[in-house]
This record gives sequence, structure tokens and C-alpha cells, in this order.
Amino acid sequence: MEKDLKLFNELVEILLEEEQRQPVAKPIDTDQLFDSLDLELPDTPTLSKDFKASLLEIIKYTPKTASVAFFNQLYGGRISKATLGDLLAVMLNNSMYTYKVGGPQIGIEKIILKKICSMIGYGPQSDGTFAPGGSMSNFMAMVMARDKYDITSRNTGINSKMIVYTSEVSHYSISKNAALMGIGRNQVREVKTNSHGEMLADDLEMKIKKDLAVGNHPFFVNCTAGTTVMGAFDDVPLIHKVSSRYNLWLHLDGAYCGSVIFSKKFKHLVNGVELTNSFSVNAHKMLGTPLSCSIIVTQDTKDLHLSFSNDAEYLYQTDGDEFNLGKISLQCGRRNDALKFWTLWKSIGTQGLERLVDKQFQLADVARNYINIHPDYELYSFEDSISVCFNYKDIPAKGLCTALYQNATLMVSFGVFKNQEFVRLVTVNSSLEEKDIINFFKELETFVENHNFNIK
Ligand SMILES: *Cc1c(COP(=O)(O)O)cnc(C)c1O
Repeated sequence: MEKDLKLFNELVEILLEEEQRQPVAKPIDTDQLFDSLDLELPDTPTLSKDFKASLLEIIKYTPKTASVAFFNQLYGGRISKATLGDLLAVMLNNSMYTYKVGGPQIGIEKIILKKICSMIGYGPQSDGTFAPGGSMSNFMAMVMARDKYDITSRNTGINSKMIVYTSEVSHYSISKNAALMGIGRNQVREVKTNSHGEMLADDLEMKIKKDLAVGNHPFFVNCTAGTTVMGAFDDVPLIHKVSSRYNLWLHLDGAYCGSVIFSKKFKHLVNGVELTNSFSVNAHKMLGTPLSCSIIVTQDTKDLHLSFSNDAEYLYQTDGDEFNLGKISLQCGRRNDALKFWTLWKSIGTQGLERLVDKQFQLADVARNYINIHPDYELYSFEDSISVCFNYKDIPAKGLCTALYQNATLMVSFGVFKNQEFVRLVTVNSSLEEKDIINFFKELETFVENHNFNIK
């Protein structure tokens, strides 16, 4: 082990240098991937120097998600105290299903969940779990809602047309999950949104009434805190008025921006979260924790048990159910995603998490200001969003983003909202400072100057 730890440190040092030297790794064309790198799996052992050389090459060409040129995704950066926790979790290698195997790690998971439940105003019956991602958090919410609506469905299967409501700009996992859980994609209603991408309560109610009139069974409404493209926040109290009138489960998908709960300045964006039945948040997005770190909490722990517990004599042999987390989780064997969030939270405190969140909004302000004072740019997104959507000199965003990537200049993606395509600059990367935002625009402008684009 010692030898490999030494190698690990060596490789990581090179990775850190590489991130500075070449913030965007040169992309390899997919049709050349297996010829350019030594990925082949041999019959005989590899000499250690060749093994190391292969790893170095792979590291060099792997996209650098912690570099200051990474704006591509809803995550990025590296916070060392969180990374430390994840490295420890790998070394400890506990599975989180039982107290016997997880020990104090179970307490670490439970204390995070308890704290989040109390922060959002959930009552003493509330609880939660760590899911394999935000999509699966949504899945768990939908399954709990289904079982609460019809307790027989977990045994008999679904025998009626059960209907899901979510906004037209919500995450694709809602319809995918509907397919996975036997509800069917056709039973997902896409509720219209306003000009900012917030779900319209009137359209929601109209759609519910229409379904009821033909004998369908509405059971679940999904709200979003931070839509994937524009970063919009649905108005929870407004939607709750409708969902509660029809007795529907209300979930708040906060995978992207649910972490505003940590900020005094921005938690108003999820006003009404205490009214929801379930809430999910990805610490691997705004909180800079390594992938993946996804939390789902619900008002009543009974619903978790109802949908996810299974007796298994070979597994649950000691301790009370309260500490055998396998009784309320999606998986059986489950990696420890809690420790990295705990090491982060423990070391920087709740105030440190608040600073992380506030900084991203501040950087988004910097970006929007830059766009607003430079006439070659047009802004499409809004205040209170860490997704800054814009076009530069009317250059088609898709072509621009692809060229920036192929030339290893910047990693940034494009998005579409209400038929408008644009560059989507995300300020979530924890490595970023104000100068990196300004630098982004300078790099973009220089790049456009030196390449041929169809400029209007
Ligand atoms: C990222 C995201 C998800 C999916 O989370 P994963 O961890 O990638 O599965 C779900 N909903 C929203 C709003 C997201 O932004």
C-alpha cells in the first residue's frame, strides 16, 4: 500500500501542475482514443514504469474539472477538505447499510440529514438518505409519493393512470423516472413556465383538473430550485396552494441550487420548502463536494421505510433499524458519500458553506455586469441565477462552444430556452475568482478575433 500511496501523491502533484499548465486538456477524437492512449488490458502484468507512464498519459488527457477554465457543468473545482474526506472514505471502505459495518460513519450520515431537515423547517418525524445522484433522489421521491398515494402498488404494481406534473424546463430525470417506475413517460405533464422559466400555477391546476375529469390519478408535483439551463426557482408556496388542494405529493428538486438553504441572503429563493413533502440537494454541485453527494429528505421517515425497506435476515443481524440505513436506502451495498460532506462542513462550519454559496452568486453578478456593459454581448438569463446565459456578436453558441473545446481554450456549454440558443456560463466551480470570470470573457473575445465565425 505504501508504494501505491507514494505513487498516488506523485500522480496528484503532476495533475495539479497540469491543471495550471493546461487548464483545458487537449481533447482526443473518439476515433483515435484507443490508438492514442494505452488503455489495452493485457494478459500479463504490466511493468510498474509502464503502468505509471500509462496513468500519466491518461491524467494528462482527462478533462480538468477543477481548473479555472471549467465552466461546462453544474459542478467543478476541488475543495481540499472535502476531497480529504472522500479519500478517507475510500480507505475505510465501509458500506452504509448497517451499523455493524458502518459504525460512526452511520452517525456522520445521520447528523448531516438531521441538520438539513431542521434547517429547512421539517418536523421531528423527518429523515433522509444519500442517493446515487440527483436523478435517483427524484426517483426516490416519486416512489414514496406513489406508495403513499396507493399503498397496494408496491405489491400489485400500478393498475391506473397515475399522473406526474413538472415544469417544461425541469430536469429530464422526472420523465425518465416515470418510465423506470412503471408510471410511463406519457403520464408526465409538462407544465408551462413564465418568461424566467418558473412553473405556472394556473397551468398546473388546469392540467390537474383535466386529468381528474377523465378519471386519471394525479399524485406527484415536482418543483425545481435552480432549473438546469436557466437556474430558475419555482415559487413553492404558489405551487403548494395547488398541490395541497388536490392532496398531491410536492417534491422540490434542489439538485442544482437547493444549497441556497445555507445562505441567509439567498435562502428566500426556496421560501416554502417547509411545505414540501420531500426535498433533494446535490452537495456535489454548489457545495463543491466530490461527485457524487446527493441528499434526499422527507417529512415523514415512515414513507422512506414504506418504500425502501426489505427484510433480509442475512444482512440485518444487529442493532435497531434506526441505525441500519439499508432499511431506507435505494441500494444494498452503498458507498459512503457522507464523510466528504462532513469533513467539509466540520472544517469550515455552516458559515463556510454560506460563503461558498454567496460567492457563486457574486461571481454570476460579475459576469452579468460584464455582459451588460459590453454591447457585443446579449444577456438571456436573470438575477439570482448562477447560470449566466448570453450570446457574443450573435455567433451561434453551439459552434462557438465546440470550437473553444476543440482548441483546448475553455470548457463551457450551450443551452436553449424558449427557442433561443446561448452560451451558458456556470459560476459554480469552487476554484473560480473574480479574475477568472473576466479572463473567461477576454479569452473568448481573443478566440473569436483569431478564428473565422459568421459574425453579423
Ligand atoms: C443535476 C440535476 C439533476 C440530476 O442530478 P445528478 O446527480 O446528475 O443525477 C436533477 N435535477 C436538477 C435540477 C439538476 O440540475
